[in-house]
Amino acid sequence: MKINKKMVCYIIVLLIVLVNVVSVSAGNHNGHVLVPDTRNNFRYVKLNDTQHKFESQVITFCKICHDVISTGKWQLVSTTNHSFGQYTNMGHNSNGTHTLKYNCTSCDYFKQTTYNCSGNPCQLPY
Ligand SMILES: [Zn+2]
Ligand SMILES: [Zn+2]
Ligand SMILES: [Zn+2]
Repeated sequence: MKINKKMVCYIIVLLIVLVNVVSVSAGNHNGHVLVPDTRNNFRYVKLNDTQHKFESQVITFCKICHDVISTGKWQLVSTTNHSFGQYTNMGHNSNGTHTLKYNCTSCDYFKQTTYNCSGNPCQLPY
């Protein structure tokens, strides 16, 4: 009797393992066997007026049909300062000032500066 119970337990465990394997590999992959592969997504997220964070995320996908199987959590890689490229000229204002907009080259943060400008020709920093 003891041996039989052990056997039953063993078979149940085996069945659970088999069911898991089948449900993972069957999926909806048009009959082909799932071949998992991973790639990394990266993004910059604005933190505050001076810094943004760089994050990465692991995406697991089927190598054959490229269906995404799982999407990992965003993980912090590093925190760095915004880097501003060339300004966008927002134009001369009627109150005798001039506005420039600086966009961060990585995230969507931007800052605007407004300074006194005599106009015609406008005084641009560079
Ligand atoms: Zn597939
Ligand atoms: Zn930034
Ligand atoms: Zn101006």
